[in-house]
Amino acid sequence: MSSPIPVFDGHNDVLLRLYKSTSKDPVADFLQGEEAGHIDLKKAKAGGFAGGLFALYSPSPRAANTTEPSTGAFSRPLPPPLPMDEARASIVGELAMLVKVERASQGAVAICRNVAEIRAAMARGALAAVPHIEGADAIDDKLHFLDVLYAAGLRSLGPVWSRPNIFGHGVPFQFPSSPDTGDGLTTAGEDLVRVCDELKILIDLSHINEKGFWDVARLSKAPLVATHSNVHALCPSPRNLTDKQLAAIRDTGGMVGLNFATGFLRPDGQMRGDTDVALMVQHLDYLLEKLGEDHVGLGSDFDGAMVPQAIGSAAGLPVLFEALRAKGYSEALMAKIACENWLKLLERTIG
Ligand code: ZN
Repeated sequence: MSSPIPVFDGHNDVLLRLYKSTSKDPVADFLQGEEAGHIDLKKAKAGGFAGGLFALYSPSPRAANTTEPSTGAFSRPLPPPLPMDEARASIVGELAMLVKVERASQGAVAICRNVAEIRAAMARGALAAVPHIEGADAIDDKLHFLDVLYAAGLRSLGPVWSRPNIFGHGVPFQFPSSPDTGDGLTTAGEDLVRVCDELKILIDLSHINEKGFWDVARLSKAPLVATHSNVHALCPSPRNLTDKQLAAIRDTGGMVGLNFATGFLRPDGQMRGDTDVALMVQHLDYLLEKLGEDHVGLGSDFDGAMVPQAIGSAAGLPVLFEALRAKGYSEALMAKIACENWLKLLERTIG
């Protein structure tokens, strides 16, 4: 069997899974491989998952279960804003998981701060992890904690997850819906965008609402990026991008990572494991048509969402490439989508 196409992925939630794990040694589980979950070192090796943006995310207590199957139109209330200290506890815990995994991995996992480090890690067969924060709820309005996170390796930030915070507003869990669901960035959010540009932290637009999207487009000099979102015209979820947003992303030489979550792929917005991989191909076709072949990648949402059973986990990534090959995608185009486009984009943002 030939070796799988190397993938650098735009989004996963494995650190949250490890942080919440009730196992006595989640670090060992990750390094040795385990039954549960989408990403561990064994599944990563099997599927060609060579690196990615690794999310730090603050769950709400009693959060709505967003992986439960749904039917028809739905609208779930968003959790209330999360107090900063509560948000910070899980961010610190998840980052500690990554640090412990790196330390225990004997070189098999590397926290990477720039593209040279990513390429070096991938070249020696190590899993390259770039820390990302999904919602800045843990960050104070003076941005002190942002500096601390930056020093720990953070290079990508979504101002909001879907829950509102002091920086802005995200899109709610409802379907069907436009992403234009409320106010944009706050004054603190505008400052956050400017500072991220200065520090060369990538700004991720995947969960922000439409007004916030245009605020970032106005303020940031960096390419516009949605690390894990799909096409609104094919699946009218507010988490997906309208043609107008895609055009703005294209105009800045930005990028979109295909989200594998079935609820953001299916025209009916349902979370169903039996979702056809062909739908992933349809979204990629559309993104390629609107953005061009240098500006589309993957943003699996592994360990954060229900993905098609045919993919199942990071070990199933070759199933997607088989489907693309069958549709006539060239090896060169697949290599760009799998990895090279993300690395070029990151060269222009984080350096
Ligand atoms: Zn997300």
